[in-house]
Amino acid sequence: MKFGVPKEVFEGEARVALTPESAKQLQKLGYDCAVETGAGALAGFSDKDYAEAGVEVIKTAAALWKDCDIVAKVRQPSETEMKRLKSGQTLISFFNPGANEAGMEMAKSKGANVIAMEMVPRISRAQKMDALSSMANIAGYRAVIEASNNFGRFFTGQITAAGKVPPAKVLVVGAGVAGLAAIGTSTSLGAITYAFDVRPEVAEQVESMGAQFVYLDFEEEQQDGAATGGYASVSSPEFREAQLAKFRELAPEVDIVITTALIPNREAPELWTEDMVAAMKPGSVIVDLAAEKGGNCKLTKMDEKIVTENGVTIIGYTDFPSRMAAQASTLYSTNIRHMMTDLTPEKDGQIVHNMEDDVIRGATVTYAGAITFPPPPPKIK
Ligand code: NAD
Repeated sequence: MKFGVPKEVFEGEARVALTPESAKQLQKLGYDCAVETGAGALAGFSDKDYAEAGVEVIKTAAALWKDCDIVAKVRQPSETEMKRLKSGQTLISFFNPGANEAGMEMAKSKGANVIAMEMVPRISRAQKMDALSSMANIAGYRAVIEASNNFGRFFTGQITAAGKVPPAKVLVVGAGVAGLAAIGTSTSLGAITYAFDVRPEVAEQVESMGAQFVYLDFEEEQQDGAATGGYASVSSPEFREAQLAKFRELAPEVDIVITTALIPNREAPELWTEDMVAAMKPGSVIVDLAAEKGGNCKLTKMDEKIVTENGVTIIGYTDFPSRMAAQASTLYSTNIRHMMTDLTPEKDGQIVHNMEDDVIRGATVTYAGAITFPPPPPKIK
């Protein structure tokens, strides 16, 4: 079978779903590989690099979609791309199935099988295919780099002949995958790093990375809403008040705030209010990784960088993984390659779409002319 990757069509998207290295691995699984001309250019992979790795370079997207049995992408396909789907074809991509009924209907009517990368179950066996985590890891790292680039001061404290420099103070709100990556990056740059999460079980991880967990004076357990499978749920008004009071106390102290707080299937909780921004020192920076879901900071503007009247920079970019396109493409294409390994039990270049397999079933949103989203809960933890 032929595995193909078109150039991403979403404006500004620099990632690509296949690197020359992953193509070599896919060939060992028995697949012929193809990319559209220029598919990897923005991520630093030239057509020549692909050709040298034995990958066919196809001139147009239309020809690639027509030629390939399996098409892999990064971004949710555009309407034009969806129209190119054909019967029996397998599409592997981020697909946003929860808000993409039209896409699933189109795939169903075309008889195409769609594997949505955001639906890979978050169980141990599937970690190697967990593209949400690999992209969140990059976003967390890049958020700190972006913050430091806009901060204009050292992160680490120094005593120099020209004077004493205090270390920067960084607060990371939300210690999931992106938050932990941000914490690791911040501590490694030498900043005093604080972190808060509604899930108290992450305190140990936060502290093991050299950061201080921010505890609340709150009588009930730190996470009051019952957590669901490691995810947060909505906080009670009392808990939220205690959390905001703590943030108000920290706002004049911290130089950098990285917010990553998300609750599945909801708008991001608003945690950094206007008065907190007003209380921050000029030159401080907020990076809001929840911008796409409405933002954790009241003043965040999605995809923009703004500077407030009191000199606080607020960054609401939503393309952090694309800003590190070479790294992001390498990790993403490895996630895809692992998915392909599981789909190819005989290593003979033939897909076996085993709907009895928890991971494949969980990620499949259309199969054999039917919509298969949402999936049943996985049996294995
Ligand atoms: P996420 O992106 O959904 O949320 C980010 C963080 O925000 C979470 O830690 C959440 O608790 C926190 N948060 C929500 N509301 C908050 C608030 N009001 N204040 C402060 N923080 C708030 O989370 P994620 O990064 O996708 O990770 C979610 C869970 O999934 C974690 O438990 C993680 O360990 C787990 N996980 C497991 C696997 C695996 O087993 N394969 C892989 C990845 C993640």
